[in-house]
Amino acid sequence: MPRTLFISDLHLAQERPDTTARFERFLAVEAPGAEALYILGDLFEAWVGDDGLALPFNAHVAERLRTLSLGVPLFFMQGNRDFLAAGGFLAATGAQAIDDPTVIDLYGQRALLMHGDTLCTDDTAYQAFRAQTRDPRWQAAALAQPLAQRLAIAQGMREGSAAAKAGKSEAIMDVALSAVEAALDAAGCQLLIHGHTHRPARHEHDVKGKPCVRWVLPDWYRDGGALEVTPTGIRALPAP
Ligand code: MN
Repeated sequence: MPRTLFISDLHLAQERPDTTARFERFLAVEAPGAEALYILGDLFEAWVGDDGLALPFNAHVAERLRTLSLGVPLFFMQGNRDFLAAGGFLAATGAQAIDDPTVIDLYGQRALLMHGDTLCTDDTAYQAFRAQTRDPRWQAAALAQPLAQRLAIAQGMREGSAAAKAGKSEAIMDVALSAVEAALDAAGCQLLIHGHTHRPARHEHDVKGKPCVRWVLPDWYRDGGALEVTPTGIRALPAP
């Protein structure tokens, strides 16, 4: 049966070889034969520019993806950790870029795909940071710094992010229901697939009288996993 796979929030990093190994098993065992693999952001713990492909770890992951892409169409949406992944990344991995949000046809059903961070509208500090870092002038200035300096800055930002998270409530860091409903309504979809929150689940929503389903993808810090969609249904797959 045809199947389409969705993953996000792998947060791949050299310091987490278990996660990398799990991802490589997924690419070897689960992904071949799929009609497509969608990566909905935060593939990497940090991607500070496509010149980071010079780092052996990044080149290794890119090569694994490129091998898969020879047989399986690969789609990539930027997350909040890898929003600087651009043309060089796409060329190295064989992936095609998709916007956040994107609507696709999934076996006759319109599906809305997002990373998920734009749904966390209660976290106004984060949304301000997001707006700043998506500004082309901010990105040009950032990319003008030497690679080593960008890696150090990213490390500092992760530590700052951990500190900021520690001071925020769980509710603020989750998606806002109003944002979910607005996104589904605007896209004319009754199915939403996103990651980012690391709270894998299947949620049901009523949007203006229409029953909607929202699947949240798991992160790969611990177990990982994917979402599998076929013409007959949707199910969460554990990582192999
Ligand atoms: Mn994220």
